[in-house]
Amino acid sequence: MPELRKDPIIDRWVIISSERGQRPVFFAEEAEPVKPGAICPLCAGNEAMTPPEVFVIRPPSISSPPNSPDWLLRVVSNKFPALRIEGELDKQGIGLYDKMNGVGAHEVIAETPLHNQTLTGMPVSSVQNLFIAYRERTLDLLKDRRFKFIMIFKNQGSVAGASLAHSHSQLIALPIIPKRLSEEITGSLNYYKYRDRCVFCDIVAQETEEKQRIIYENEHFLAISPFASRFPFETWILPKRHEESFLSSRHDDNYFFVADALSTVLKKQEKVLNSPPYNFMIHTTPIELKNTAYYHWHIEIIPRLTKMAGFEWGTGFYINPTPPEEATTFLQEVDV
Ligand SMILES: [Zn+2]
Ligand SMILES: [Zn+2]
Repeated sequence: MPELRKDPIIDRWVIISSERGQRPVFFAEEAEPVKPGAICPLCAGNEAMTPPEVFVIRPPSISSPPNSPDWLLRVVSNKFPALRIEGELDKQGIGLYDKMNGVGAHEVIAETPLHNQTLTGMPVSSVQNLFIAYRERTLDLLKDRRFKFIMIFKNQGSVAGASLAHSHSQLIALPIIPKRLSEEITGSLNYYKYRDRCVFCDIVAQETEEKQRIIYENEHFLAISPFASRFPFETWILPKRHEESFLSSRHDDNYFFVADALSTVLKKQEKVLNSPPYNFMIHTTPIELKNTAYYHWHIEIIPRLTKMAGFEWGTGFYINPTPPEEATTFLQEVDV
C-alpha cells in the first residue's frame, strides 16, 4: 500500500510508493525514451491488456459490448497506480509526523484509438470528448467521500513524464488538497476579502483591456501568457465568465469552447516550438468548496523547454528567459 506522508515544516504531502520501490538501476532504465515497436496497451484491439474500461465513448451508430475495439475514447484504471482505490485512510500521527494510507483513484484516459494521433491532430469534437470524459469520471469519483481533490493532467512526451507514447491524459483522486491548490485558494480568498472580487475575473478583465498577453480567445474562453509566467510560453486558459469548477457549465455543448481554445493553443505551440513535450493541468475547486465566488477554474499549459535547476529547487523562484509578452506575440502571429 502506498503511503501519504506530510512534511511537518511546510504541510506538503508526498506519496511514498513502496510498491514501485525500485532498485537504483531502475531509474537509469526509466530514463530511456519509450521503446518504439513495443505492443501498446492503449491501442484499439489491445483492450485485454488494460484493466476493464470505466468509461467509453463510441461512435453514435455503434453499440459494441464493453471492452471491444470500436471506441473513440476510453478510460481505464491505471495498471500501475500511484494510489490504491481500496481501503481506509487510517490517519496516524507518529511523534511529529503525520501519515495516512495512499488511498485514491488513478485513471488513464486514452484520447484516441490511433497510436500516432496526438491532440493537435484531432478534430475539436474529439478534444471536446476529452472534457466529457473528465466530467463523467469526476462526477462518479465525487461520490466517494474519501476524496478531497481530483487532479486531471496530461504528460505529452517522455521529457514531460509520459511513460506511454500513445496520447493519453490522467486523473488522480486524492484524499487531501494538494499544496499548489491550497496556495491558489488561499491567495484568491485573500484577494476576494480585500476587493470583494474574484482575482481571476479581474485578470480576465485587465488582460482583455490591455491586449498584451492574449494568445487566443473565443466566445467563452481566453488563453493568455500569465503576467508572472514561470516558464517560457506558459499558457493559461480561463473561462471569461466566473466559473469555480469545470463542472459549473457541464452540458456537452459547453465543452466545445474550451476544447477549441485548448486545441488552438496546442497547435500554436506545436508550430512555434517544434512539437515540444508539455504538461497541462486542470485547476478547479476542490470537492468540498461549493459556490465559491473567489476561485475560478483554469487550465495551465507548460511546454517543457527549460529544466528546473538548483536555484529553482532551492527557492521555488523561477527564472523565465522569455518575457510573456514576447511569447504572446509569437503564438498570436502563427496561423493554425
Ligand atoms: Zn497505442
Ligand atoms: Zn472569477
